[in-house]
Amino acid sequence: MPSVPFSRPTIEDDDVAAVAETLRSGWITSGPRVQAFEAAFRERLGVRHALAVSSATAGLHLLLASLDLGPEDEVVVPSLTWATTANVVELCGARTVFADVDPETLCLDPADVARRITPRTRALIPVHFAGQPADLAALRTLAAEHGLDLIEDAAHALGTAYGDEEIGSAGNPAVFSFHPIKNITTAEGGMIVLDDDERATRLRLLRFHGVSKDAWQRYHQRRVHGYDVLLPGFKYNLTDLQAALGLVQFGKLERFNARRTALAERYLQLLEGLAELAPLGRVPYSARHCWHLFVVRLRLEALDCDRDAFMSELAAEGVATGLHFQPLHQTAYYRERYGYGPGDLPHTEDVGARIFSLPLFPGLSEAEQDHVVAALKTVLARHRKRGHDA
Ligand SMILES: *Cc1c(COP(=O)(O)O)cnc(C)c1O
Repeated sequence: MPSVPFSRPTIEDDDVAAVAETLRSGWITSGPRVQAFEAAFRERLGVRHALAVSSATAGLHLLLASLDLGPEDEVVVPSLTWATTANVVELCGARTVFADVDPETLCLDPADVARRITPRTRALIPVHFAGQPADLAALRTLAAEHGLDLIEDAAHALGTAYGDEEIGSAGNPAVFSFHPIKNITTAEGGMIVLDDDERATRLRLLRFHGVSKDAWQRYHQRRVHGYDVLLPGFKYNLTDLQAALGLVQFGKLERFNARRTALAERYLQLLEGLAELAPLGRVPYSARHCWHLFVVRLRLEALDCDRDAFMSELAAEGVATGLHFQPLHQTAYYRERYGYGPGDLPHTEDVGARIFSLPLFPGLSEAEQDHVVAALKTVLARHRKRGHDA
């Protein structure tokens, strides 16, 4: 069996046709396809605004930039997340404060967030980890009590629901990602959704140079001459080439997520009884999981190797795995800037040394999945300590 990749985007003939048609259309940067892609998000989620951006990172950067943070301002984020969630705070000149996660679900622990809020806290950025929703009721209560902006990093959560509320549908700012490993892809891309009209206007300006009209509007609404620079903005627009792909992919979201769910349930069955390998737990509130990632935790005390060696040996068995995530407070920049030490985020530190992610994507075959499970069993058997037989 050839090796199993960690992820592989599902690109079908209609995806290719939509991009080719855009290439031939005479308009390839932001234009009608971006507008249609944004409209599709507004319709699905029932929100007033959807802004397509060049990545989820760009979207989160814009949302933070729209808060006009100062050097004393603080933003609370998980440490167990991709670099983006904290980097955007730093890029806006503010201070990142890391909070711990629930050790079962790896979503932010609201009680720990509460302990880290100070009079300087301006915003919270929860991550809907692996496709399960963060505890939004508890986080919204904290945000309301302390007057904080709540920005949802929904990079993992397209199709996720918190109770009956689909993520992004509440009108609270949320950002989705279309990176190739995410639940739909535009190669690179992201979408901000929100209800606030004034903030949306500001975000649109910041997305495109701070210029009052974008290129499509200038050329096609007969406003060829006039534009103004209202503030120094970024260049974070999505292109029509990408939006053409995104529109076709978006139409397949239910099929993709159903396949991810079926594969995840099959993993859960196949891994049952492997005492050294624990999948994440489910959130204790009603939720729909979009199964962006299948994360497992190694019981290192029962093994004579560490997580990194385990992942390398799986690679040698032809199984690529992922690491979601390396705790950010332990990375060079954040460690040096804030001086975090051992014990500051106990659950993040403990789980951060034990987690890795198994291949999970709609095109994964059951034969490939069986190969993943067989490789896991081979490597486990090699490293199981005596007295810890499964
Ligand atoms: C992928 C990811 C991002 C960034 O998404 P991009 O579209 O690649 O910028 C942000 N946060 C989390 C939690 C992610 O997994």
